[in-house]
Amino acid sequence: MLKKKLELFFLTIIVLFSGVLAINYYNSYSFKHNPLPQSYQTQINLKEQKILDNMQKHFGIRKKFPLIITDKIPGRLYGLTSYINNHITIYLNQKVMQESFSCILSDFIAHEYAHALLFYLHAYSAKNDCHSKKWQNTCQLLAGKDCKQYMNQKEIILSKIPFRIQ
Ligand SMILES: [Zn+2]
Repeated sequence: MLKKKLELFFLTIIVLFSGVLAINYYNSYSFKHNPLPQSYQTQINLKEQKILDNMQKHFGIRKKFPLIITDKIPGRLYGLTSYINNHITIYLNQKVMQESFSCILSDFIAHEYAHALLFYLHAYSAKNDCHSKKWQNTCQLLAGKDCKQYMNQKEIILSKIPFRIQ
């Protein structure tokens, strides 16, 4: 009798955990592939305004770059900046956004904006994946804090984009 009760107990636990896992999986999948929740979009917009304010203050221009949030970026990249035929676009990876949002918001958007601005000003050097001293200074001025290169992120595209957006 006790054995049966124990069996039932463990079976219930397993069913419950499977349920929790399924819900987590569904939530994560749904976040990655549905339009970004408004609260995320609002925070990104606010961050962008702050970067543009800093750009105005330190560079005397206010250049907004297209910022596309997409689930088409392969792998674990936070996002990337492309500079192709004089068109500059910043992409953010929606698939890692839920788990890495604080990092993307506090560091990564300014990081990419600094790349975009140097492309725009024709002031970049392709050495070191475009992470020159000048890039770092630019990033610090835009972000108002330290900037670093992400060693595992190849996030500069100067030729064809390796994925389809639409
Ligand atoms: Zn970079």
